[in-house]
Amino acid sequence: MTETTVHVEPRTDVLESLDPRTGEVIATFPIHSDQEVRDIVVRAREAAKWWDELGFSGRAKRIDAWRKHMVAHLDELIALVSRETGKSLDDATLECALFIDHVHWAAANAKKVLGKKKRPSGLLMSNFRATVEYRPWGVVGAIGPWNYPVYTPGGMFVYAIAAGNAVVFKPSEYTPAVGRWLVDSFHEVVPEQPVFSLITGFGATGAALATSGVDKLAFTGSAATGKLVAKAAAETLTPVTMECGGKDAVIVAADADLDAAAEQIVFGAIANSGQTCAGIERAYVVDSVADRLLELVVEKTKKITAGPGANDTIGPMCMPKQIPIVRRHIEAALADGGKALVGGLDSVKDPYIEPVILVDVPETSAAVQEETFGPVVIINRVADLDEAIRKSNDTGYGLGAAVFSKSLGEKIADRLNVGMVSINSFLTFAAIPTLPFGGRGLSGYGRMHGEEGLRDFSAPRAVTKKLFPGVIDPLGYGRKENAVKNLLTVIKARYGKF
Ligand code: NAD
Repeated sequence: MTETTVHVEPRTDVLESLDPRTGEVIATFPIHSDQEVRDIVVRAREAAKWWDELGFSGRAKRIDAWRKHMVAHLDELIALVSRETGKSLDDATLECALFIDHVHWAAANAKKVLGKKKRPSGLLMSNFRATVEYRPWGVVGAIGPWNYPVYTPGGMFVYAIAAGNAVVFKPSEYTPAVGRWLVDSFHEVVPEQPVFSLITGFGATGAALATSGVDKLAFTGSAATGKLVAKAAAETLTPVTMECGGKDAVIVAADADLDAAAEQIVFGAIANSGQTCAGIERAYVVDSVADRLLELVVEKTKKITAGPGANDTIGPMCMPKQIPIVRRHIEAALADGGKALVGGLDSVKDPYIEPVILVDVPETSAAVQEETFGPVVIINRVADLDEAIRKSNDTGYGLGAAVFSKSLGEKIADRLNVGMVSINSFLTFAAIPTLPFGGRGLSGYGRMHGEEGLRDFSAPRAVTKKLFPGVIDPLGYGRKENAVKNLLTVIKARYGKF
């Protein structure tokens, strides 16, 4: 700190949104109390009823209007995302463009995926018509992170809204302005009822939402916070979708296109300053091609710059408290016997972190096991693909993975304990709206996006209708004398042999 620097304590009575490049206050927001959150949920419940009654086509029309409205103002949203998170305009553009594609897909497909459908009623119940439809939960509480403040919470609130729910959205305390922009833009085209509401504040406001009486919770954030949210939801058996962190690995086989693999490792590890849940944090490279791959990775990484300029590839770290974690992981990797091929501890220049490429880091190191969430990648050599697969599967996380191989991509993907794999590419599963997004283990459960995402925000309702009297009709005390015996005879005859 220079002598002229005045240290201003952040205000605690309101939430201040800051530009991480300059520290400048972008806007202030209320810190919603428990009671205020509950009141907003009560109002959302009325809105949920109205929104449900509009039906699929009434809702799709309004969501389409919202999409067009957002596209007309997309440059404004992109600039705000870049300003509030510090990410480059390119990174902000990528996330907003993908988000719009999801808004379109969810509205266009909600009826097809969730609408009433006939199901076969089976031999014993052939005198019944059986149907299933996916009904909205009611009010969904969505708690979001800051790293992709549009795309990631969008995977929750867009799919929840398209499924017929009202949503109360708590954006990260680092990105409330983006949250407000999204909610305000929805109100522009759906002014009648608070179908999509905003609450702002820190963790306590998120905790208030978790116990506010919402019918469903969707959380995206760290595994540590996810555990607290799941615990709170357990009190009322409120269903939760959990989208938590990751420690994604890429596997590079001997027959990989090495230039493509290097390109995607560098992009996957460094884009958005490494603050991507499904970003590449580890790479396992088969020994025979490791030297060449590392040469290519080093060459490509050296072109990347971190800084405030429009031409810098990456911006600052958005969340100050992540910087010491990144530093601790670099320290741990080096202390545990790893080597820095590009950068090192000097790369951490708060609030910017320049790319760091580490090699030969033992698997037991915290740098290999814990989520780093910075522009750092560990590249380790392996003797063969079996070792690569075993090590890839050997953290508690299971979000995504990437595989580079001309001939073995699917075979390797089959053996990875993750929710998503991209073969000969990175993160491409996130750009295809039909595919479910989510993980397993410490990375969470439940899914956003695709048919699975729409169903996650709906409760299935099964309905049967008697069409005519059945031959056996065993359910009821007025049944024929031999009805139960006849049922057993049919079951034995039908299912007793192979
Ligand atoms: P975080 O866990 O610190 O916070 C997430 C949200 O939870 C914030 O809105 C925060 O205010 C709120 N919160 C904090 N304490 C709470 C509590 N006790 N009860 C309820 N809510 C509470 O995470 P973050 O730093 O904002 O985001 C980064 C993390 O998110 C990383 O681990 C990243 O991998 C993960 N992430 C996962 C996905 C995915 O889809 N799987 C996507 C993006 C980010």
